[in-house]
Amino acid sequence: MTSPPAGVTHAGVTHGLVCAHHHLYSALARGMPPPPATPGNFQEILELIWWRLDCALDDEMLRASARLGALEALERGCTAIIDHHESPNAIDGSLSIIAEACAEVGVRVSCAYGVTDRHGPEGARQGLRENERYLQEGGRGMVGVHAAFTCEADTLAGAAEMAKNFGVGVHIHVGEGAPDAQAAEVLAPYATADWLLVHGVLLEDDHPLAGTIVHNPRSNMNNSVGYARPVRFANPVALGTDGIGADMLEEFRLAYVCLRATDVAATPETPWQWLLQGEELFPEVRNDEVRWSYGDMDPWSLAFTPGVSPLSVRVDGEEVWADGSPTKVDAAEVRAHATEQAQRLFAKLA
Ligand SMILES: [Zn+2]
Repeated sequence: MTSPPAGVTHAGVTHGLVCAHHHLYSALARGMPPPPATPGNFQEILELIWWRLDCALDDEMLRASARLGALEALERGCTAIIDHHESPNAIDGSLSIIAEACAEVGVRVSCAYGVTDRHGPEGARQGLRENERYLQEGGRGMVGVHAAFTCEADTLAGAAEMAKNFGVGVHIHVGEGAPDAQAAEVLAPYATADWLLVHGVLLEDDHPLAGTIVHNPRSNMNNSVGYARPVRFANPVALGTDGIGADMLEEFRLAYVCLRATDVAATPETPWQWLLQGEELFPEVRNDEVRWSYGDMDPWSLAFTPGVSPLSVRVDGEEVWADGSPTKVDAAEVRAHATEQAQRLFAKLA
């Protein structure tokens, strides 16, 4: 008998999967009113969609959004989310709301508030304070920064210093699109191996940044920012969704076809390694167990098998998903609450 592939404990069973970059606050965005104009590039996607949405969020919407996002993660066998959060008009306490929502559903989460100077220096200070408060209270997380191009030098230096003092990394978008083309130069003095460098589309092959690159193929295609081609980097690579759910087997399949599209010799083992890299970022998932609807949980089979679903999920020995439902929360109530809060959000955006 041959031993099972890396990450598979035995036939049809794996550790919990990790989403290495998520935005739980975006779970209510689906069905939102159309933006005032059609975005023509990445900067306009940020300005016309995401930066209007994040400004409209309040605590109750955030709680509903995080509970829905956590439920949808569990539903796909993802037991750990590395979240990156922004709600400029509801900063204080926001990371604890997300952490509590995830705990209620039974999903592990690492929180970070995406600090930015887009709302002036006081907004940036408030964001830094929220990271500090949360970490000081013992929350599992990182120090978040939106991106180098929306931060003043002092803010970046302050975030890097805070992360160092807490012994955690910085979770930051890097070179996702044209406005952030200078990121490597700006961040080079600060980035260390425990940083999460999200996207890296515009990074040079031999960029100087230490840290794990988080590849989000679906989001990159959706935003027309180009292909990051993470095989070119010396950094470790992990997989995220950038807020479009937490179906990590789906993201693995997408990562595979993106890679394969221009390299016929590429194999599913490369994106499988990226998926498993999540365990290095969130080692606790090795205490989690997902039993799948499919026996051949190896990269070569999974790359060509859509729709594989969890039958049961255990987090630290506790069954949190069984028979198509969560065990700790009422899925119908979580969804109804999300629908109600989405209506409030949409009314504010209309
Ligand atoms: Zn993101």
